Amino acid sequence: MKQHLLVSACCVLAVTAACLSEHSPSGSPPPPVGAVSVETGYTDSSFFSPPPVVPPDPVPFTLSWQPVEGASSYEVRVYPMPMSASNWDDAVVVASLPAGSPTDAVPVFVQPEVFENTCVGCGLCEAACPHDAITVSASGKAVIDPALCTQCGECFRTCPFDAISDNSYGQPYYFGVCAVSPGGAYSDPVCTSSRYYMRYTNWEQYCGDCAEACYILLDSCGPGCPVDAVWFEDSTGEHPGRVHIDHDLCVQCGQCMIQCHQYGLLTIRREVVEEGPEP
Ligand code: SF4
Ligand code: SF4
Ligand code: SF4
Repeated sequence: MKQHLLVSACCVLAVTAACLSEHSPSGSPPPPVGAVSVETGYTDSSFFSPPPVVPPDPVPFTLSWQPVEGASSYEVRVYPMPMSASNWDDAVVVASLPAGSPTDAVPVFVQPEVFENTCVGCGLCEAACPHDAITVSASGKAVIDPALCTQCGECFRTCPFDAISDNSYGQPYYFGVCAVSPGGAYSDPVCTSSRYYMRYTNWEQYCGDCAEACYILLDSCGPGCPVDAVWFEDSTGEHPGRVHIDHDLCVQCGQCMIQCHQYGLLTIRREVVEEGPEP
């Protein structure tokens, strides 16, 4: 998955270089934005509200920063390693917004990924992608070209089989923001020193104890957990009927959440977790 972002980043670098040669920035760069915050915690507001974290809501990350004088726009980039001015051009652009837009809650959609075990190769995402970034391979699975993908989320919203995840599962992300002047001059980037990733958990006390066995475990609502990280406490356990996720095995793919929600239950939720800088 890291390779995906790196490949994508290389392409962005090439495109950026081409753009710079055509449009040289002019004027002074704006001052850098203040600190960039990334919202952590569960991405759904309430267990009892309508399920907001399954399609068509594709937004895993929410960023905020203080606007600055002299900026005509802001550019948000993401990278799997710590970012600074020295590798800013290698990072992938995930949001661009004009000054004047609210910067206190900017939704950021990152590189999506195809669940090969649930993709049926129908091609609807291929037709829907506005950037021709998806092809259905000879093996009948959709493949996203990260060099063409702009992380718009259209495929995620289109797939009738929920076979496209809203992020590169298991991928940690660093985020950075630059202010851009009307002449195209970039401020120094302000980047997070922490990295962030999606994590899926079972809200155990509300777990439905579906017919005395988890439907994810029974593969009744879909393909189940691809790495068998979901386990169920039987009658000999401390909390019989409770379903747990073994986070040592979990690869944060999100399929259990989709399946739990498809069954009408909402107990598997996703959260944004902050980790310290890369060890
Ligand atoms: S729309 Fe979904 S199932 Fe169809 S090819 Fe794309 S990813 Fe696969
Ligand atoms: S996120 Fe958008 S650009 Fe990327 S593959 Fe999906 S539809 Fe295409
Ligand atoms: S997120 Fe994916 S790997 Fe983790 S428990 Fe759920 S289905 Fe299994």
